[in-house]
Amino acid sequence: MNNKIKEIANRSLQNEWVSRDDALYLMQTDGDEIYDVLYWANQIRLQYFGHAVKACSIVSAKQGRCTEDCSFCSQSVRYHTGIEEFPLIDTHKILDVARYAEQTGSGSIGIVTSGYGMNNPGDIGKICAAIKEVITNTRIHPHGSFGILTRETAELLVTYGLKRLNHNLETSERFFPTVCSTHTFSDRMNTIRIAKEAGLEICSGAIFGIGEGMDDRIDLAFTFKNLDVDVVPINFLHPVSGTPLENSVPLTPLEALKIIAVFRFVLPDKEIKIAGGRERNLRDLQSWMFYAGANSTMIGNYLTTTGRKMEEDFQMIKDLGLKLQNN
Ligand code: SF4
Repeated sequence: MNNKIKEIANRSLQNEWVSRDDALYLMQTDGDEIYDVLYWANQIRLQYFGHAVKACSIVSAKQGRCTEDCSFCSQSVRYHTGIEEFPLIDTHKILDVARYAEQTGSGSIGIVTSGYGMNNPGDIGKICAAIKEVITNTRIHPHGSFGILTRETAELLVTYGLKRLNHNLETSERFFPTVCSTHTFSDRMNTIRIAKEAGLEICSGAIFGIGEGMDDRIDLAFTFKNLDVDVVPINFLHPVSGTPLENSVPLTPLEALKIIAVFRFVLPDKEIKIAGGRERNLRDLQSWMFYAGANSTMIGNYLTTTGRKMEEDFQMIKDLGLKLQNN
């Protein structure tokens, strides 16, 4: 057992800050030492969350035709990906998804719309109506991801009952311009600030395997720490044909697990949720995501890629001796 990894873990177990240098040391581990990092990440998860894990699913409420050019995303109007495109779906369809999520044991759904923000007149009213319907008719917590928000929109969403906003930073401030040229890292940070000030919980995460370096991964982990976000979704690139990253090589499963683990060291008491791309990047090691420190996962299909059956994930959670928590 590597003593330095144990020392860093002890700081995390006492909820003391892990330094940037220590986080980089963990991220640079190789060979058998990766298993030490995973072991301690699991200890940290157990200390803060015990055997409880969370699951949520998403509904793609408006898909494609996005004006932005995020290089990993199949929904940009600039790339020919052949995905199904549709305008904002009706409230009853969102309610149907919430009812299904309730039946299958999810505690929440994320209502996700493509695009820079809520620019179409009428869309925000329909989203607010859907949030109210879900709250009135199910026990599901509706969360949302609506792109860049104005202060007025954030406050309106809160008025209708939205509790949590997802708004990913995607990658580090340094690497962001390589990934997207149509808006900035500051634009995204600003939406998080506005949402926090409006009283929303913040779910903000990243996508890995898009060409970022170890420094970018570490910087991002500390950005989330400084922002004191509530939930950190971790996505791994699932390359889609037609996007600039279509030929990217997936991360190895151990590299992906190490990223999860280092985030657990830096953010010991935060919900770390594994989201898109886990099937492709973790392959047979998917169940290890909890051993690497995750305490939450997205289940079902992702926005434009297919996840495995929910039943398989529920079985995996049961087989690991973990307990699904519904809020
Ligand atoms: S990630 Fe969001 S903003 Fe970027 S292209 Fe996709 S839908 Fe548009």
